[in-house]
Amino acid sequence: MTNKTVLITGASKGIGRATAELFGQHGYSLILNYYASEAQAIELSDKLKSFGCHVLPYKADVTDREQVEQMVAAGEKEFGGIDILVSNAGKAEQCLFTDITPEQWREMMAVSVDAAYYCCRSVLPSMIHRHQGKIILISSIWGMVGASCEVHYSTAKAAIIGMTKALAKELGPSNITVNCVAPGVIDTDMNSGLGADTRKALEAETPLGRIGSPLDVANSVLFLASEHADFITGQVLSPNGGLTII
Ligand code: NAP
Repeated sequence: MTNKTVLITGASKGIGRATAELFGQHGYSLILNYYASEAQAIELSDKLKSFGCHVLPYKADVTDREQVEQMVAAGEKEFGGIDILVSNAGKAEQCLFTDITPEQWREMMAVSVDAAYYCCRSVLPSMIHRHQGKIILISSIWGMVGASCEVHYSTAKAAIIGMTKALAKELGPSNITVNCVAPGVIDTDMNSGLGADTRKALEAETPLGRIGSPLDVANSVLFLASEHADFITGQVLSPNGGLTII
């Protein structure tokens, strides 16, 4: 059990939600960020509160700098400080590179790269002042190896890996670790459009023979947030069942 506070962006669904539930079980106080899925976020918040967790559900568009700053200020006021940031909110989109409009490109960079920048920028003054903190940025296996028909997504997720490595070097002297979790294919709404055949093919190509669960990813995040990872920074941990090709 811990008395630390975590801010999780995109906590209403999928990986963010599973991460929130796991951190709640381990005694963390939680700031649960959501944007469109209000009912799901409030339902999760109520569930965690019924287990005795301290929870602040907070609606904010992570692509908006001011909303992120207000959310972090509200979290710091409620809990006295944010110890861990999990920058998880994201979206995926599949289309040919030549069909990606400048607006789609910008939107993808905004929800992934801009959001991570705004969140880190907002939590850091207090973390640096307190000489402690852990930042975990969610990338993707496609940011490591590239995905056809997801060039904007792969580009944004690769940028997150670069950001992790650079920020880790800069923040090491402040005793703040920065790591990245780059999941493989995970069973969330993001992959609800996968047909049965594609799903079967992905399972067959994965050495562990299955698609990952949100909890598989949450376990990696919890590890990186824990004291067991105190000497780990600038790293990319990829819960992917062994799927490294494609
Ligand atoms: P998901 O089930 O679609 O959930 C996406 C989450 O992001 C939702 O909670 C959503 O909140 C939030 N979000 C999106 N835009 C937002 C915005 N502008 N402001 C605030 N929140 C926003 O997706 P997921 O699979 O859990 O994905 C979570 C992260 O893991 C993403 O960064 C994704 O790229 C990454 N990832 C996923 C997979 C996979 O196979 N699923 C693999 C590798 C990496 P609202 O609905 O409340 O707006």
